[in-house]
Amino acid sequence: MPEGHTVHRQARELRGRFRGQVVAASSPQGRFEAGAALLDGQAMRAVEAFGKHLFLQVESRVWLHVHLGLAGVWTFGDGPAPTPRGSVRLRLVGGGHWADLRGPVICEVITGPQRRAIHDRLGADPLRRDADPDRAGRLVLRSKVSIGGLLMRQDVVAGIGNVYRAEALFRQRIDPWAAGSSLTPQVWQALWCDLVVLLRDGLRRGRIVTTDVQHRSRRSGTVLAQDAHYVYRRTGLACRVCATTVLAEPMAGRTLYRCPACQRVGSLLA
Ligand SMILES: [Zn+2]
Repeated sequence: MPEGHTVHRQARELRGRFRGQVVAASSPQGRFEAGAALLDGQAMRAVEAFGKHLFLQVESRVWLHVHLGLAGVWTFGDGPAPTPRGSVRLRLVGGGHWADLRGPVICEVITGPQRRAIHDRLGADPLRRDADPDRAGRLVLRSKVSIGGLLMRQDVVAGIGNVYRAEALFRQRIDPWAAGSSLTPQVWQALWCDLVVLLRDGLRRGRIVTTDVQHRSRRSGTVLAQDAHYVYRRTGLACRVCATTVLAEPMAGRTLYRCPACQRVGSLLA
């Protein structure tokens, strides 16, 4: 599933191609014909990402709301749009550009108040300037739920998925199984600041790289895929910092990766 940096990049792609342009909207697949008709032939006013949600406003002030889920994909292009292939739910064409959306779990047209209600349900997005990490911190610091579980809750922190969850907790040496309430405000603050750093880096690169240069097999050039993470999908390999074997275990239906030696913050206090 795409994490928040991907959705913010998609918002940027859409904004760059279509903002201010009159856009033709259609549903080649047919499943979104009525929705596309509400957007068709209007100028695009705004595009924003919030966590894993994308919102796009046209001049009649309604919003397109998209959540890609596990299988959704945006494809962007410049010049004439190709003949639609596969199940294109929504096609946008305008200003010499096109965008195709396939397989989203949510693709709907909503009103301003409905968009606001979705915003209100979401937690702090590390990539948004209006993020409120103190509110997220209050939720975390009084919760008996594990910090690994809390980070995946979109109403606490919006846009974090399995990769950023595993990697940020490793970088801050926090035991994913430690209750939120066992963290100190300082540890929460450091974790939040690192999430902001990591997601901004992901937004810039278009991929998730969490390792510091001294923990990679080579010091310069493009970061190799096998050098990009500390613990995510490194089950059975040696921790880059302490050489202890990296563990994988289920947590709330997703695989959790951690170094049992490095990640002790919180667990000692609980
Ligand atoms: Zn370690």
